[in-house]
Amino acid sequence: MKAACWHGVHDVRIDTVPDPKIEHPRDIILKITASAICGSDLHLYDGYIPSMKEGDILGHEFMGEIVEVGSEVKNLALGERVVVPFTISCGHCFFCERDLWSACDESNPNADAAKAVYGASPAGLFGYSHLFGGYAGGQAEYVRVPYGDVGPLKVPTGWRDDQVLFLSDIFPTGYMAAENCNIGENDTVAVWGCGPVGQFAIRSAILLGAKQVIAIDRFPERLELARNAGAIPVNYADADVDEVLKTLTSGRGPDACIDAVGMEAHGYGLDALYDKAKQFVRLQSDRPTALRQAIMACRKGGTVSIPGVYGGLIDKMPIGAAFGKGLTFKMGQTHVQRYLEPLLDLITSGKIDPSFIVSHRIGLDEVPEAYEQFRTKENQSIKYMITF
Ligand code: NAD
Ligand code: ZN
Repeated sequence: MKAACWHGVHDVRIDTVPDPKIEHPRDIILKITASAICGSDLHLYDGYIPSMKEGDILGHEFMGEIVEVGSEVKNLALGERVVVPFTISCGHCFFCERDLWSACDESNPNADAAKAVYGASPAGLFGYSHLFGGYAGGQAEYVRVPYGDVGPLKVPTGWRDDQVLFLSDIFPTGYMAAENCNIGENDTVAVWGCGPVGQFAIRSAILLGAKQVIAIDRFPERLELARNAGAIPVNYADADVDEVLKTLTSGRGPDACIDAVGMEAHGYGLDALYDKAKQFVRLQSDRPTALRQAIMACRKGGTVSIPGVYGGLIDKMPIGAAFGKGLTFKMGQTHVQRYLEPLLDLITSGKIDPSFIVSHRIGLDEVPEAYEQFRTKENQSIKYMITF
């Protein structure tokens, strides 16, 4: 089959690789019908996530048709159409039983190595380095889905791929980021980053009853999409973000601040230093970053919700300000499985149509070029959907 493979920093190629096979009775094999490129993939592309190997298959947002079913998978059948959570979870460990799917203790065979590097042992992820289990991803024609009896969600007939594909990651991620803000009816929520995750966080905050949502980015097309959702756009390239936020919140600051940026090398950004000896990714900067701005802007007693991905160490966090204001921090990899059914209901009841996010539709052969375009964002790309 053909697959988009990582070959080094800023080097993605379409390779011909062996088809996946059932390796465990709980596996299924999918023929992929739609896939996508995520902001998280840019961290791999930029080389911020250690432990990628040449030839690793990328991609963690995908859906498709079941073409093989392991003998222990009783709830799915050949030919069924499913969307797959990017978090790989066993469904039965201490963490899965507590609805903490991205903390699954069984799905990451390299959890100890991850703990040595990150200080945490996360669940396995598709196409996201060997520290997250070394699983092949879904920017490919076929993919093996471990624990197929637990993760995949059957798609009801009548819904297009572009309407349900984003249940795999960015819709649950934006939703969890907003839910983590514990939004009250008079609340103001500020969202740094109007990429796909920020866009779903903005719409989710509005669905969850926020009175005012403020959207911060520097790309006009992304700010425009946020405005369409009902947010107040702020371009950080030509506005004093802190001042604007104060003005819009009677001087107090937002009740909740969402960092939907993470390790962003292309905004004001961060300097990433890859310490090969320790295998740490250390991020250090004196320039304003989204996270620092979010902490400083948040009102006393407010919440900082961080869906943006950080790996390794980040220095110069204003922890004194966070302590002094009594902030609540919520963050982490999304517990996707927790949100599949409720968010599918929001789609089928007409509350949201996630296809709004797709700006570019491409074939698999165009993926290497798309990574570069999505990195610079100069072609106004917001979300690449790959169709087969
Ligand atoms: P993206 O690259 O499309 O969007 C990031 C946006 O942040 C860009 O529009 C950029 O202009 C903006 N930005 C950069 N610096 C900024 C600053 N200082 N202030 C305000 N905006 C700034 O990526 P995406 O797909 O939207 O993903 C966003 C983040 O969410 C990434 O870090 C990604 O890894 C992470 N993510 C996390 C999870 C999870 O499970 N927690 C899942 C998916 C993605
Ligand atoms: Zn993703």
